[in-house]
Amino acid sequence: MPSAEIIAVGTELLTPDKSDTNSLWLTSKLNEIGVEVKLKTVVGDDPLRLEEAISDAYKRSDLVITTGGLGPTEDDITRACGAAAIGKELVFHEELLEELKHKFKAFGYEMPERNRQQAYLIEGAKVLPNPNGSAVGMMHYTGGKALVLLPGPPREMKPMFSDHVLPTMAEDFDGVVVLRQSLRVTGLGESKLDEIISPIYTAFKNPVTSTLFSRTDIEVQLTATAATKEEAESLNNELAKKIAGKLGDSVFSMNGEPMEVVVGRMLLEKGKSLAVAESCTGGLVSKRLTDVPGSSGFLLEGCVTYSNNAKMARLGVPSMTLDSHGAVSAETAEAMAVGMRETAGSDVAVSITGIAGPGGGTEGKPVGTVFVGYADTESVFSKRLHLPGDRNLVRWRSSQAALDCVRRQLL
Ligand code: ATP
Ligand code: MG
Repeated sequence: MPSAEIIAVGTELLTPDKSDTNSLWLTSKLNEIGVEVKLKTVVGDDPLRLEEAISDAYKRSDLVITTGGLGPTEDDITRACGAAAIGKELVFHEELLEELKHKFKAFGYEMPERNRQQAYLIEGAKVLPNPNGSAVGMMHYTGGKALVLLPGPPREMKPMFSDHVLPTMAEDFDGVVVLRQSLRVTGLGESKLDEIISPIYTAFKNPVTSTLFSRTDIEVQLTATAATKEEAESLNNELAKKIAGKLGDSVFSMNGEPMEVVVGRMLLEKGKSLAVAESCTGGLVSKRLTDVPGSSGFLLEGCVTYSNNAKMARLGVPSMTLDSHGAVSAETAEAMAVGMRETAGSDVAVSITGIAGPGGGTEGKPVGTVFVGYADTESVFSKRLHLPGDRNLVRWRSSQAALDCVRRQLL
């Protein structure tokens, strides 16, 4: 299998404010054509370090890809360092300069003199056009070794790679296909899950299985290696089905989709509408649902009823219920769901009330106590949860539990 290295260039990527996401995207694309990423480096705008990093990578790997540092400013040094690292000159291209001048003119500007450096290519390199920005990329390719320089902004880098690098690589690196499939699971602990599925997946060498724990659920990742995409897909599918068979309803997606997408699709398929009443999650469930394109097809309304007054005035929760059971109780959660459903006129309503912390907990209802209420035409019920984590996590896990409650009712 051919090997690749990725070098992300930019001093800002060495600060806590900016992360290198380009290499994650590139890795997934390279894996699809059977190229394995062996090493990733992040280098600041430092000419000596960058030249050294490219030159070392070029000695070790079949394919070296850099992103960033192709702009017109003083600290954009990748072009020069790339040339020096592989012992080549930079060559001026009149036609690239004309093109650049043209791009600027189209926006009503004169090209600043500084942009002139963007008309230089490494000797022998092929130009990679950039319809989304000023910096063209380049690919130097000889004897099974390639150095590819791409711009930093993801919206410029991605189409350049997909349209002009990937096709060449897929043809020339006659490798295998590595394909990932991810099952998403909720409502089970990591060790319990592993206990259930390890007897299945340990019997398979290909795909390789790994479990990842995220803030709200577990991902079971299957990675198959095969000669073709179809073969890899069918290897993954076979094992995915076996695992899902054991886990039952706890699996909410067979292909990595988030919970809100799954719930939205199920509502659409069943022709049911939803309304959401939230207290401690402050609108998070509505936010997640409206992140899904087309959510107006299933979501009627979301209310953030934070105070007792709002719960009474907007949802019609009886003051007796609040007085005798408290705002965080099964009775209030159910009354919220019923009131939400009736006033919004939806088929289904879900509600959340709880104590996200850090303050507000009592002995009987400690921080992390959350009630999810549910109402549809036939049933009304609630669930009491005790969720671990800080304020942020409790809110996230509550939103997941509420969405999962709707999902399980729709099954
Ligand atoms: P430009 O012509 O825009 O200057 P460039 O090739 O010089 O392009 P940079 O200046 O290094 O690119 O980066 C421009 C922007 O692209 C950065 O501010 C950052 O937001 C984004 N960017 C750069 N590298 C990465 C990366 N590895 N991952 C994610 N975003 C990145
Ligand atoms: Mg730049």
